[in-house]
Amino acid sequence: MKTTITGGAGFIGSHLVEHLLAAGDEVTVLDNLSTGRLENLRSVIGHRKFHFVEGDILDKSAVDKVVSGSDRVFHLAAAVGVNLIVEHPLESLRTNIHGTEVVLDSVLEAGASLLLASTSEIYGKNASDSLSEEADRILGSALKSRWTYAAAKGIDEAFAHAYWREFGLRVAIVRLFNTVGPRQTGRYGMVVPRLVKQALTGQPLTVYGDGKQTRCFSYVGDIVPAITRISAESSAYGNAYNLGGSYEISILTLAERIVELLGSKSDISLVPYEQAYAEGYEDMRRRVPDNSKARQLVGFDPKTTLDEIIKNVAAEQRPPKTGDPVQWKVTMAIN
Ligand code: UDP
Repeated sequence: MKTTITGGAGFIGSHLVEHLLAAGDEVTVLDNLSTGRLENLRSVIGHRKFHFVEGDILDKSAVDKVVSGSDRVFHLAAAVGVNLIVEHPLESLRTNIHGTEVVLDSVLEAGASLLLASTSEIYGKNASDSLSEEADRILGSALKSRWTYAAAKGIDEAFAHAYWREFGLRVAIVRLFNTVGPRQTGRYGMVVPRLVKQALTGQPLTVYGDGKQTRCFSYVGDIVPAITRISAESSAYGNAYNLGGSYEISILTLAERIVELLGSKSDISLVPYEQAYAEGYEDMRRRVPDNSKARQLVGFDPKTTLDEIIKNVAAEQRPPKTGDPVQWKVTMAIN
């Protein structure tokens, strides 16, 4: 199988590259290295079936070149993370909307199949007990970057769906909920690597607002095999699938757990939202996935516990020294 991954030098993309190479695919990555890093691909550079192309998804000829001859494409390239979206709203919109349209066009011309990575952000402020794929989207003002991002990703999905309806493009969509693991950087806002780093370096853990907002974190090692399986199911075309963790936790409890698990002496500091976020951003109180559609299709059953997730993120940030009471190992499910 010849596979192209846009955004393959990013956090999830690089894990997907390793997974597909292990499965025997020939893998080409297209990445502009804006947030992705070659360092993430360290383990595969030099692999005889791995190819890297530095290029932008806004550049149609670059996309055409890598996509032509591919059997399938995973489209992961996007502007993601609170900080990036707020600081560069225009670039984020262009990448997320126009870039996806370019990829859809190229994949259609190449006759390949496509897996589009979308996000739980599209549900917006819908804080219901369990978000199914049909759940309503509740978005705030179009002038606030968070909701613009959610709108852009929703448009991506609508484009993909329309390409399937009108041209028969074989495209499936996955909506990722707070995926976490090694190689994710806290630079763009993601809470787990940020709090782990603070705990390991003795700084106060910055919990925004009252800390009672909740999320369901999932491990990249559970998500990557599920994405791969969904991409291989013809009944997935024209459909979207939630992929998230099954355990809901408040951010304050998460911070307490990180401190305890890592034996950190850091304090936890509640930071008012006005200080934490630039104007144009708003938090979400709650986001809980209903994973049953992906469970039915590919047996999705995220098994990695939050404690294991925290340990794996910490293991990457602080490699174990000899004599450490706990020897942590970065683990990835390859199946
Ligand atoms: N958050 C926090 N401290 C941080 C970074 C994030 O308390 O240093 C909070 C953030 O306000 C949100 C949650 O953690 O309520 C998850 O944030 P993240 O950006 O990881 O994901 P998302 O908001 O997109 O779910």
